[in-house]
Amino acid sequence: MDFIYVLVSFVVIGFFVFFILLPRYGPHYVSKLFCPICKRGFNFHWVPGATLTSLRYGNRRRLKCPYCGQVNTFDIASTRVSKSKAAQKT
Ligand SMILES: [Zn+2]
Repeated sequence: MDFIYVLVSFVVIGFFVFFILLPRYGPHYVSKLFCPICKRGFNFHWVPGATLTSLRYGNRRRLKCPYCGQVNTFDIASTRVSKSKAAQKT
């Protein structure tokens, strides 16, 4: 029973780190996206390969524009502007 308890704890910790800590504090990319409807630009932070949607759509993401609220498909790979939080500071 002890072995199962340790195994379950590891899975829970791994899940927590992968889905909560990594997207927030780990290395991520920033893309400068341009809404085709309201013609306004905005920054989008994303983690490569961290979500199921990125596997389904590849380099394209379906996002809601923060200004007009319309959902569009954006190419986040070609619009990438910085590699990580650290790189953005300099
Ligand atoms: Zn828009």
